[in-house]
Amino acid sequence: MKINIRQIGIFIVILSACIVIWLAATAATYQSLSQEASPSSSTMSAPTPNTPTPTSVVTPTPGPDRSAFAVTPGNVPGNFTMSDEKIVYLTFDDGPSSKTQAVLDVLDRYGIKATFFVTGLSPDHASMIKTAYDKGHTIGLHTMSHNYAAVYASPEAYFADLDAIGQVVAEQIGYVPCFIRFPGGSSNTISANYTKGIMTTLTAEVNARGYQYYDWGGSVGDGAEKTVDELIAQGTGFGQTNNLILLMHDSETKQNTVDALPAIIGYYLSQGYTFRAIDRDSYVPHHKVLN
Ligand SMILES: [Zn+2]
Repeated sequence: MKINIRQIGIFIVILSACIVIWLAATAATYQSLSQEASPSSSTMSAPTPNTPTPTSVVTPTPGPDRSAFAVTPGNVPGNFTMSDEKIVYLTFDDGPSSKTQAVLDVLDRYGIKATFFVTGLSPDHASMIKTAYDKGHTIGLHTMSHNYAAVYASPEAYFADLDAIGQVVAEQIGYVPCFIRFPGGSSNTISANYTKGIMTTLTAEVNARGYQYYDWGGSVGDGAEKTVDELIAQGTGFGQTNNLILLMHDSETKQNTVDALPAIIGYYLSQGYTFRAIDRDSYVPHHKVLN
């Protein structure tokens, strides 16, 4: 077969065109892949401890299906043995209030989850319950009124109050959680002024109804009375406990607690602890009932 120069020229032109088309297609594919990759790689970057992350770019961490946290008679959380892991469960009582957002901002900065035992004391801030929940924090029930005389007037009065705060929370997160904390804890002696022996009754009855109560292994102290330095000193005194449930407050008067929080978190991080929100498998601390 005889091939002339004209045929060779046509072949070279066709080959060149193919190469140009292939190069263009490869470049387009590479560009689209790198566009997909960049948003997820920025999402994955770890927060810098001392640089607040703007709330608008914080992606809520998808956790387990937390509807399993709904109160269910016959399914009471009951892990009474500490694990070998060094875990701090930060717990905030008496909110939500105007201080709750600042607490959430600090927790976001460190990328840690906590637990809020909420009240009905500040209806204007009820939506903060959903805000905290959507960020991956656990919501527990504390009390609607936090009025000891009313709450501990009788077992019926206690459960009326618990049901009321349960409904407030259900409106925000879609269910009534099984995690509760008694006003004053189960070891409080104030309740005996109103009903002798009521804590013995209530500690059994909340379990019978599917709730579990969480006391604490350490308390940071009263943020309305102590200085920031005093709160830090007290709050960092529990580094010998593996599963530390630490009591704090995010109520209206506890600005010093907010200010002490970064140093307390930093201390436990430096001691090798991780921070978790309470779930059904968490260690359950119970105090001794004293009335
Ligand atoms: Zn309280």
